[in-house]
Amino acid sequence: LTESRLYQSNDKSPLQIFVRAKKKINDIYGEIEEYVHETTTFINALHAEAEIVDKAERELFESYVYKVAAIREVLQRDHMKVAFFGRTSNGKSSVINAMLREKILPSGIGHTTNCFCQVEGSNGGEAYLMKEGSDEKLNVVNIKQLANALCQEKLCESSLVRIFWPRERCSLLRDDVVFVDSPGVDVSANLDDWIDNHCLNADVFVLVLNAESTMTRAEKQFFHTVSQKLSKPNIFILNNRWDASANEPECQESVKSQHTERCIDFLTKELKVSNEKEAAERVFFVSARETLQARIEEAKGNPPHMGAIAEGFQMRYFEFQDFERKFEECISQSAVKTKFQQHSSRGKSVSGDMKSMLDNIYERITIFRNLKQDQKNMLTERIQGTETQMMQVTREMKMKIHNMVEEVEEKVSKALNE
Ligand code: GDP
Repeated sequence: LTESRLYQSNDKSPLQIFVRAKKKINDIYGEIEEYVHETTTFINALHAEAEIVDKAERELFESYVYKVAAIREVLQRDHMKVAFFGRTSNGKSSVINAMLREKILPSGIGHTTNCFCQVEGSNGGEAYLMKEGSDEKLNVVNIKQLANALCQEKLCESSLVRIFWPRERCSLLRDDVVFVDSPGVDVSANLDDWIDNHCLNADVFVLVLNAESTMTRAEKQFFHTVSQKLSKPNIFILNNRWDASANEPECQESVKSQHTERCIDFLTKELKVSNEKEAAERVFFVSARETLQARIEEAKGNPPHMGAIAEGFQMRYFEFQDFERKFEECISQSAVKTKFQQHSSRGKSVSGDMKSMLDNIYERITIFRNLKQDQKNMLTERIQGTETQMMQVTREMKMKIHNMVEEVEEKVSKALNE
């Protein structure tokens, strides 16, 4: 196995933090659902038998059944979301393709993505496309057809096309990472809509820059708006097309340190989303096109450097892998926090509420039972009293009769004697 295949099949990937947490919380909610069902059946039976619980209480218990079912549905759909932004042609689609190890999104001249494209895993080996507002699955046979479909459609720039790609084709899709590609930030004036519709639930943002030029106002403005709407968004910056620097080795280092300083300043001083140390680990110099080519070669069984575009391939390839590793760590930790923390505290509060309601009912049952017991005791006492009285009367009667008999006997024998 080549190194990257090993990496791909390596279940120690940081994404497993999310995958395992998702399984665990789903299992726990499965148990909560069972418990809620059982309790509701029990409560209903209790109502039918003794009317210890009232209608309002029964309705409340039933509402928990729906609540838990709704949370379970959301949990099963939860995923990690990464959104890519930057100017047109900086290489956003190419970065996504490189991470997916396959040319899935159309890229290059004439294939400008003019709407949002979301790539997510599908089950059952199917590849298809779905447009916003429709449930129709449009079959995708190949990338050319997908590109044509995206170009021909007159789509609004803030609408979303969902591309479903077989999970088993890529470990990131298998582990529930969803990729969102955006139209260039230079083409839109509706940044607010974009953010509201596609970014609020993103766990990680990747700003794809062109390393051959400097960051533009549009790119900066977009992230200013993002960080006003979201508290401390996780932002990675990729200086893409770094292969171009190989043509000018004499100024490579100075260009790199200039870009690095600007990117770190942007994250720390302008956006104030990271500290210096964290920001330094969020800025990378890569070549998406080269990485994609290398991975396509690897898939054919060739060494990755066969995809090299320019001198210095190995460094850029390592840097891309380093980015992926840090990205995986960040996205899975962030998604566990944002997606599951809320559900686990809701789960706790549902089971806490149910417990106190059941405690309350139990108390009422105990009082009810004691009352019955008291009634029973009183009745028993009364019966016992009557029995003693009866015995007394009987004893007295017996005595009287005995005396009467004796008296009669005496009288009779006296009469006989006389
Ligand atoms: P997008 O509009 O941001 O999605 O950009 P694309 O991914 O469509 O890329 C635009 C063009 O730049 C395509 O022809 C890519 O092949 C090319 N490209 C992307 N990344 C690189 C890179 O790292 N190096 C070089 N030399 N070309 C690249």
